[in-house]
Amino acid sequence: MTDFRPLMRAFFSAGNTRNYAFRRQQLQSLHRLIFEHEEEIIRVLAADFGKPTAETYASEIAFLYQEINHTLKHLRNWMRPKKVSTPLVLQPSKSRIYFEPKGVVLVVGPWNYPFQLTLAPVVAAMAAGNCVVIKPSELTPQTSALIKHLINNYFSPEYLVVVEGEGAQIVPELIDKYHFDHIFFTGSTRVGAMIAEQAGRHLISTTLELGGKSPAIVERSATFEVAARRLLWGKFFNSGQTCVAPDYLLLDEEIADSFIEILKNNLLKFYDDPSQASRHLARIVGKERWKTLVGYLEQGKILYGGQYNEERLYIAPTLLQVTDLSQSVMQEEIFGPILPIITYQNCSEALEIIERNPYPLAFYLFTREKKKQNWYLEHVQFGGGAINNAMVHLSNPNLPFGGINQSGHGRYHGYEGFSAFSNHKSVLHSDTWFDPDFKYPPYSKTTLKWFRRLLG
Ligand code: NAD
Repeated sequence: MTDFRPLMRAFFSAGNTRNYAFRRQQLQSLHRLIFEHEEEIIRVLAADFGKPTAETYASEIAFLYQEINHTLKHLRNWMRPKKVSTPLVLQPSKSRIYFEPKGVVLVVGPWNYPFQLTLAPVVAAMAAGNCVVIKPSELTPQTSALIKHLINNYFSPEYLVVVEGEGAQIVPELIDKYHFDHIFFTGSTRVGAMIAEQAGRHLISTTLELGGKSPAIVERSATFEVAARRLLWGKFFNSGQTCVAPDYLLLDEEIADSFIEILKNNLLKFYDDPSQASRHLARIVGKERWKTLVGYLEQGKILYGGQYNEERLYIAPTLLQVTDLSQSVMQEEIFGPILPIITYQNCSEALEIIERNPYPLAFYLFTREKKKQNWYLEHVQFGGGAINNAMVHLSNPNLPFGGINQSGHGRYHGYEGFSAFSNHKSVLHSDTWFDPDFKYPPYSKTTLKWFRRLLG
């Protein structure tokens, strides 16, 4: 592995990345990089796991355009030192927070949205004025190679570098060698914990965007047809290989039969005959994942779908009725086109099921009842989510995105990304024309009197 560290450190320390004009220009280059290679991006994602063009455009390309444009629109403002008020006791002074780049940072990406989830944190890191080492996932090799090729062509190696390879070997090596100023990791909870441990040894700050089992609840007062369509779209987009996909469905017992029929009808409309691999549905990323997913199909009653094909790494969109919650399909993040359905009788029972897999990354609730909405919002701890919708909350750059405990630490998207990659440097600017004696030793009764009055 070529050692870019001295080059990058020198480039950063010389202050090249600090000014607004540089950051703006580099973000525009990234936008151009994507715009000039849309077709190649679509091609590699189709080659890596059969991702449909429409899904690639929406989730890998347009998402990045939006993130870059939003950043360009607000960057000057975000970079301005923020004035905050100053308590009386510190007068005459002014207080400001300066947003400084952290330095040379590491971004580690996952395979499931391998282009967007690798580069969206890079947008934030660039906006905040950092140099970035980028490690894409080895499970989507064509996308990884394209990212490396394009970054090499559009950016200088002292500013952005892509390192490819087996994560388990390369990432620990990189962390030990580079002593990064921040690590932004997107991936599994298992690897996230290892990264946190290693970063902790060096006291490197981290943002961890992890996974988990995100529940969706459909209550009897939901608008059925809309709820079914939004839920299915959120689940089967990218073939369920989405960190915020509804992992399982908690369905109000009273409406179970009729709602399941609506789900089936919509699945047929979306993807046609499940025994034929639809071109509107992505494939599973690899054999190992495919085998695990096929194993889940035996852990419940198949209500719809259930077909699979090993050669094409295909699994049909499947509805699986599950009653035994101790099965692995209800213990592990599914990350595939299988939707377990569990019926419940009341809110407390639904909550009890959710708490078996606490701190989900996302939570979705379909109900028109305000009281129910408030009850669940108060009782379920989750990273982000939607009421009467699924998955789309992440496309609002004004909503900080991230998890809680096992599903992650820290936030990004929009301002929060800029903030995650910035050191918030707090500075008190004091005037010198007023400097009363009483606070200095030797202390007297007057000192205490003034301290009581001023400090409370
Ligand atoms: P993963 O944890 O296996 O891999 C993620 C990255 O870590 C890859 O670049 C990989 O090379 C690297 N890696 C693998 N083993 C490593 C190790 N031992 N040490 C250091 N680095 C290592 O995750 P994945 O399979 O690519 O992605 C799927 C998971 O990611 C799911 O759990 C999903 O929920 C989660 N995810 C979360 C978000 C989010 O925004 N919160 C987004 C996408 C995916």
